Amino acid sequence: MWDNIERIDKIRLLRHELRHIYVDTDSERNPYKLVDHDVTDFAEEIALNTDDTRWAERLGDLTIELYSQEQDREADEE
Ligand SMILES: [Zn+2]
Repeated sequence: MWDNIERIDKIRLLRHELRHIYVDTDSERNPYKLVDHDVTDFAEEIALNTDDTRWAERLGDLTIELYSQEQDREADEE
């Protein structure tokens, strides 16, 4: 495959694979870790959301914050 793809695709492929590497300098036993993908989405949705590529993470954080506030309110009522 490598010998049959354009230079830009080689860059894309290498850049992607390098993102899977994480060196945990605090871990003496096994500092070499793999990073999983941080995006699970539809290609069409990714293309439609280039103005806010982290929209799902943002809404997830908001949901957690709202849930936490509701939990605090319920604890205050008890
Ligand atoms: Zn990958």
